[in-house]
Amino acid sequence: MSTPMVIADKVGKRFGHTEILKEVDLTVRRGEVTCLLGPSGSGKSTFLRCVNHLERIDSGRLRVGGELVGYRQEGTVLHELNEKDIARQRSRIGMVFQRFNLFPHFTALQNITEAPRRVLNESKEEADDRARELLTRVGLSGREHHYPAQLSGGQQQRVAIARALAMRPELMLFDEPTSALDPELVGEVLSVMRDLADTGMTMIVVTHEMGFAGEVADQIAFLDGGRVIEHGSPDAVLGNPSHERTRAFLSKVL
Ligand code: ADP
Ligand code: MG
Repeated sequence: MSTPMVIADKVGKRFGHTEILKEVDLTVRRGEVTCLLGPSGSGKSTFLRCVNHLERIDSGRLRVGGELVGYRQEGTVLHELNEKDIARQRSRIGMVFQRFNLFPHFTALQNITEAPRRVLNESKEEADDRARELLTRVGLSGREHHYPAQLSGGQQQRVAIARALAMRPELMLFDEPTSALDPELVGEVLSVMRDLADTGMTMIVVTHEMGFAGEVADQIAFLDGGRVIEHGSPDAVLGNPSHERTRAFLSKVL
């Protein structure tokens, strides 16, 4: 058995005096898709941001690829990593947000090649070739010279996915990637995500798309008030939830 990609062990996070995450336990195995469900404000985005070390956890342990996120342990003492090591950890993780956050003054191709060229020191030719390959993979060959404003929301989100993949991540985090899209554009983005899952990418997906969660997830975790109150197979969590809060949530979104 290989080490799991993500292990959250009683992860806690506060903002001021408010506990946002409370002893969150979650294991994400390599090659698996975990969907995180839960009402607004339950801590889903905060958890993803902790995995990517955009937020620092206050208690518990969080490991990605076997390494503590943001720390190195010597004996029983934790030492905070320096910026360079944090950047190295982060570069293994791709993140896709609700808002695509593309650079408006860059073409699709330039959006995708910017980080590989700057961070991975790829040559222009290498980065361009790979970006074209990725654009094809997300169904956007021929759009390489389009600017974000010339693309639909669904197309922009697919460029954002290609941009994340260009960094060759081991883990992809999606935070409500289809929530800002017009309904008719949701399917094309979910279809790209499904293909990505089929290639064996490890993914954590925060979503309200229950069809996607039911079909693609290996595991579903349901967050409520900063706690994982239920987790298991899609059949178990969606089909036969044991918690009243999960049932109430599902009855609203299904
Ligand atoms: P979700 O993604 O499930 O909707 P979030 O993780 O965004 O939930 O937020 C969980 C809670 O943490 C919310 O009550 C939110 O207001 C609070 N919160 C999120 N970010 C911050 C912050 N930077 N400072 C203070 N409170 C925050
Ligand atoms: Mg959120």
